[in-house]
Amino acid sequence: MTNWICDKCGYTLEAETPPEECPSCKEKCSFVDNSCYTPDCEGKKTDPRIGKR
Ligand SMILES: [Zn+2]
Repeated sequence: MTNWICDKCGYTLEAETPPEECPSCKEKCSFVDNSCYTPDCEGKKTDPRIGKR
């Protein structure tokens, strides 16, 4: 399971693949991987793309 976060509203969910439509803001948001998946992430738990809302 992967932890996904909506880059618009910050809604998070765990799923194999992110949903096309965000259950929270009901829009076709882009979900980004919220889990640490790169070896060089240095403990940063969030995708660097998160935060620019
Ligand atoms: Zn959303």
